[in-house]
Amino acid sequence: MPSSNNKHHLEDYAPIVTAGVINEIEELARLLGPAKIVNVNSTKEGGGVAEILGWFIPILEDLGMTVEWKVITGNTEFFTITKKFHNALHGQPEEFTQEMFDSYLDNVEKNAPEIPDDADFVVIHDPQPVAMIAQYPNRSNRWAWRCHIDLSEADLRVWGFLRPFVERYDGAVFHLPQYTKNLMSPQFILPPAIDPLAPKNEELTDDEVTAILYRLGVPRDKRIILQVARFDRLKDPFGAIRAFKLVRSWYDCRLILAGGSATDDPESQAVLAEVQDMAGDDPDIHILNLPPDSHREINALQRAATVVIQNSRREGFGLTVTEAMWKAKPVVGTDIGGIRHQIIHGNSGFLIHSVEGLAYRIRQLFGNEDIAKRFGQQAREYVRNNLLVPHHIRRWLLVFHSLRQTNGDLITLPPQKVTE
Ligand code: UDP
Repeated sequence: MPSSNNKHHLEDYAPIVTAGVINEIEELARLLGPAKIVNVNSTKEGGGVAEILGWFIPILEDLGMTVEWKVITGNTEFFTITKKFHNALHGQPEEFTQEMFDSYLDNVEKNAPEIPDDADFVVIHDPQPVAMIAQYPNRSNRWAWRCHIDLSEADLRVWGFLRPFVERYDGAVFHLPQYTKNLMSPQFILPPAIDPLAPKNEELTDDEVTAILYRLGVPRDKRIILQVARFDRLKDPFGAIRAFKLVRSWYDCRLILAGGSATDDPESQAVLAEVQDMAGDDPDIHILNLPPDSHREINALQRAATVVIQNSRREGFGLTVTEAMWKAKPVVGTDIGGIRHQIIHGNSGFLIHSVEGLAYRIRQLFGNEDIAKRFGQQAREYVRNNLLVPHHIRRWLLVFHSLRQTNGDLITLPPQKVTE
């Protein structure tokens, strides 16, 4: 039975994924028992982590778990430092002083949320709260560090500082194999997922799409190129504008850069101003600075797009790519991180290495509607089989089981029941 207030039950997903996945989840949850799970991140709104926790928690609760979501607080200085950590872990050059590391630790000590003693599992998301594990030297519960970013080219100084904290955890969980590190502690691979039933991804009629675009001031009179991304240099909105200008000399079209800012990113206002400046008064470039709850708006934009682009320099996973693929859109994205993992080049989209390449592939899709349609359908099937809520829940339950197996016991699952 579909539930109200956008909270869904596991069985609501049964018509979308194969029945075996749902059965396996129920069995894994039953074997785990009514565990208490505490999640800690650094923002309730904006960005992929908040997006995932929004659906992850109600479903675990539905499966009998008690789940809490806590947020580490901090002043602008703290979030400026953690944004520098974020950039440096993504391999960007950043300057650090010892005072910054001290200030970070000081803030974590003062502002980390309290973890209840009766929690069975504690999941700490990303670097902002990672050091709080040091405050629990005598803990008896199992802690996992959930890393949502690409650490493959992490700055050695920042990683060297964070690593001793990470190694205190019972396990570290990464999106992709290439993000794992040489750690003393166990590591798990667990890609994120999207919720097909959420306002961000639910079906919309064409009239609804048109009405929402009208409200956003975007006519549907010509082809649309769309990038959805926080206003962040690593998402390279500037390159997207350059590519759009190259495409426009061949095809009349619009570019939409839809974004917003996360409360843990002090840089976004400056980036937005620069993007607006570069767009100037071009009537075909729409810079939409959306509030964090603009889920239906993003849904409509993705559905209205002819081609979706993701011109990021670094990307932990790129949920915006997943969202567009689920809407059967061909996506042209940079050949990096999670984008490379999702788009099968020449099958469900294109992977590119330059602004010129981006423009060339957009033109190719504009000129070949059949290919664009086929790519979109293949993209949707890929997401259906790999990157939806049930796949993610199933993988997390396996991680919780594994974290609990301190004595090396194996979990024995009964054979999968496949009901049609
Ligand atoms: N998003 C949003 N509003 C925005 C920009 C992004 O709601 O203005 C959503 C987007 O639809 C996606 C998530 O935030 O669900 C971004 O996740 P992604 O992995 O693409 O990037 P991150 O922001 O975590 O780097």
